[in-house]
Amino acid sequence: MQLRAEEISQIIKKQIQNYERAAHTMETGTVLSVGDGIARIYGLEGSMAGELLEFPGNLMGLVLNLESDNVGSAIFGDTSTIKEGSIVKRTGRIMEVPVGEALVGRVVNSLGQPLDGKGPIESPHRRRVEVKAPGILARQPVKEPLQTGIKAIDAMVPIGRGQRELIIGDRQTGKTAVAIDTIINQKGLGVYCFYVAVGQKQSTVAAVVDKLTQFGAMEYTTVVVAGASESAPLQFIAPYTGVTMAEYFRDTGRHALCIYDDLSKQAVAYRQLSLLLRRPPGREAYPGDVFYIHSRLLERAAKMAEEFAVVPSGTTDWKAVPPGTHIHRGGEGKGEAEKEAKEKGAGHTVLKNPHSGGSLTALPIIETQGGDVSAYIPTNVISITDGQIFLETDLFYSGVRPAINVGISVSRVGGNAQIKAMKSVAGTLKLDLAQYREKAAFSQFASDLDKVTRDMLERGVRLTEVLKQGQYVPLPVEKQIVLIYAATKGYVDGLPKDRLGSYESELYSFIEANHADIFERIRTKKALDKEIEEDLKKALDKFGKAFGKGSK
Ligand code: ATP
Ligand code: MG
Repeated sequence: MQLRAEEISQIIKKQIQNYERAAHTMETGTVLSVGDGIARIYGLEGSMAGELLEFPGNLMGLVLNLESDNVGSAIFGDTSTIKEGSIVKRTGRIMEVPVGEALVGRVVNSLGQPLDGKGPIESPHRRRVEVKAPGILARQPVKEPLQTGIKAIDAMVPIGRGQRELIIGDRQTGKTAVAIDTIINQKGLGVYCFYVAVGQKQSTVAAVVDKLTQFGAMEYTTVVVAGASESAPLQFIAPYTGVTMAEYFRDTGRHALCIYDDLSKQAVAYRQLSLLLRRPPGREAYPGDVFYIHSRLLERAAKMAEEFAVVPSGTTDWKAVPPGTHIHRGGEGKGEAEKEAKEKGAGHTVLKNPHSGGSLTALPIIETQGGDVSAYIPTNVISITDGQIFLETDLFYSGVRPAINVGISVSRVGGNAQIKAMKSVAGTLKLDLAQYREKAAFSQFASDLDKVTRDMLERGVRLTEVLKQGQYVPLPVEKQIVLIYAATKGYVDGLPKDRLGSYESELYSFIEANHADIFERIRTKKALDKEIEEDLKKALDKFGKAFGKGSK
């Protein structure tokens, strides 16, 4: 293979020297070999990594390998029209996709072309798919919650806007379900959602789009699809396409959520590409830089810092801020700017950049084999993200759904973003559950237990039951708080396990009917102060009595 390429390139080199005197060698090249969606091209000396190439038949390609005597390119689409000797043109452009509001509600492929038959996408904005992630100065720590609407997650592994949280588990453990419920829960919260489906069956993706439409979530969601039948280059590029579209919202002061379902399949596509490009394989036959494809993708998730500048009063347009004006960023930014305005005296005010302070949250999904989180790709992505939600087959089949393993699921930064009320009720929940699991396994061998242990097991059983949740029913945070309060303060201790489901649903309607202000106050105050707590206790007592009677 290598020899043949050398041979051909020698011949072509000579021909060019003799006849064309190196004219056009910068702009066009000839295909040396083509196959499996990969072409090697001679004569594109000036091409850049990531540049788009034009192949015959309107096909586009992406430069991936720059070698001394040829370039390796991935081709997007059916390569049957491309032959040895075909002419390839440089475009001089790095790959870009359309972005902007026009993409909301659409289903597109990896190149941003519509797949939903709703007409062309007309957007004035385009962006490069490969850009550098924002640096430290441009960011701030996460501080606002991204509510998933899933009790077990919002209470125990809370996610903040701008965070990267991995969803990991074997096949058919409800990974996609967690992601879809999270999207559905963003309704009315001003979060633009992007669902990137890589290497999945078309029918599975169609079902997801159906569900999103049914729950009104397509109004603020874009779906990027590179199905299992799509070529490896398209599957490889899809997550970058998705994040690029999401970044547009992050960089205009809004909030975006990007789901990559799943990155294992993207890694496989990348491995295929790399091996065809003859890059040396490493662990599990992945090329060494597979870590980098995931890290540079996930680093683009960010909570952007707010920006403030001191301007003459009356200036309301950020574009009118003169260049060279000091921009205040970071946690103290606003205070500093206000101080500066005061020092400058009357006639000065503080202006906030309306395009600052946006966020991009990433929920990558990884499929494990037999629960093995120590395989190459899972360990990589675990180390890149700010935590993981681990879903387990055993739990899933024992009816604990969502099948979250509380012990090894973690969110390293989201706690800062969790609202106070939730923090206060869920404080010991994770520990209680972890202890319960441990003791439960142990107690199977012991016949008579002391009262303390027995109580703890009873409590654990109920907590587990209370955290179960069906699909497509994300729960607002105030309801979650009320339920978890009831469960952790012992209001359900006397109830049989199988009645907890109806306890939950009836509790919500009871409070809504009789004490709707409790939900309202938790929602607006975000904290569970003494007054609300007293009212909540009374309401729970009253409901408990009514519910208890109902059982007799
Ligand atoms: P795959 O590996 O095939 O992508 P997955 O891990 O994404 O699977 P899902 O497709 O989300 O898993 O879910 C698997 C099945 O479990 C689906 O039939 C789904 O409807 C069901 N399921 C998921 N979550 C729940 C839940 N909370 N309650 C009831 N059923 C659920
Ligand atoms: Mg799935």
